Amino acid sequence: MSKIDLKRLTLTQLEEFLRQIGEPAYRARQIFKWIYKGQTQFEKMTDLPKTLIGKLNDHAYISMIDVYKKYESALDETVKYVFLLEDANLVESVKMKYSFGVTACISSQVGCSMGCAFCASTEGGMVRNLLWSEMADEVLAIEKDSGEKVSRVVVMGSGEPLLNYDELIQFLKVLNMSIAFNISFRRVTVSTCGIVPEIFRLADEGIPITLAVSLHAPNDEIRNCLMPINRRYPISQLLDACKYYIMKTKRRITFEYALISQVNDSDECAYELSNLLKDMLCHVNLIPLNPVEGKIYKRSTPSQVHRFEKILSSSGISTTVRRELGSDIQAACGQLRRSLLKR
Ligand code: SAH
Repeated sequence: MSKIDLKRLTLTQLEEFLRQIGEPAYRARQIFKWIYKGQTQFEKMTDLPKTLIGKLNDHAYISMIDVYKKYESALDETVKYVFLLEDANLVESVKMKYSFGVTACISSQVGCSMGCAFCASTEGGMVRNLLWSEMADEVLAIEKDSGEKVSRVVVMGSGEPLLNYDELIQFLKVLNMSIAFNISFRRVTVSTCGIVPEIFRLADEGIPITLAVSLHAPNDEIRNCLMPINRRYPISQLLDACKYYIMKTKRRITFEYALISQVNDSDECAYELSNLLKDMLCHVNLIPLNPVEGKIYKRSTPSQVHRFEKILSSSGISTTVRRELGSDIQAACGQLRRSLLKR
């Protein structure tokens, strides 16, 4: 009989496994706790009896993903990780340090199928979905490597999380469980390019995370050029889903808007965006575009970013400009995996 990786089991599945090896189910909680403290050796689980440790060693193991590459920013304390998965795929995560603690930016898929024109993750297409336990591993591996506790998670790495829906939900639940990561849902953000039916579904899930929506344009004409998903779910449908999400969760939505020179950064665009979002419980996060090699798009000038922000703010829309971290280590979405794959 081949050994089973306990890392891949939910608490319920772990209880079932213990029953199968003739042990009481309550041991599952103890083992689960150890797993999420980063422990991979049964001998070191000090509250387990020797006989159980023996049985666990006979039938099970706990996997850990390897750090394949690690880049530390010289400008700030951002660290970019490239992890090696069991099937030899690579996945990127980022650790960011703020005054309020450590935030982990997690990937939800290997590659991405969405094809946004300005994004590096999408080249080479989508390889596969990540398992919930692989997303949990990204967080655990960051904690293990840095020796710091992750206090916030943003699912803003490579991939479209709402196209990996079931694994995402299970991952969010484990983030929240007090015997696992114990991170409040309010400290978790999921970013989507706008998969409308799944936004409705998420709204009904009763999981009060922050939803971030990648808007990047004030109208369908521009958004169609930047984001192919807009042809399937145009802005009006997307905003209906967002309004439903706000109504059900009472949570403010964040709209992400990457400012691209001469494409979506005119004063006119800013006024159009203000109109579109007025009366919505939302926040706009302006992101200076990270230029991707081989793509035509350029970032807006700092003065245009400032103008754009002012127009939105003076229309009463809560707006911030995202502080850039790790710009010297290709910390933006998919940049690193892409350059490693090229090599
Ligand atoms: N698929 C999800 C999450 C991944 S991307 C989504 O689309 O939201 C996280 C954010 O980074 C998205 O808002 C995405 O549009 C943005 N992004 C991607 N490439 C970028 C780039 N080159 N510069 C700035 N933001 C970028």
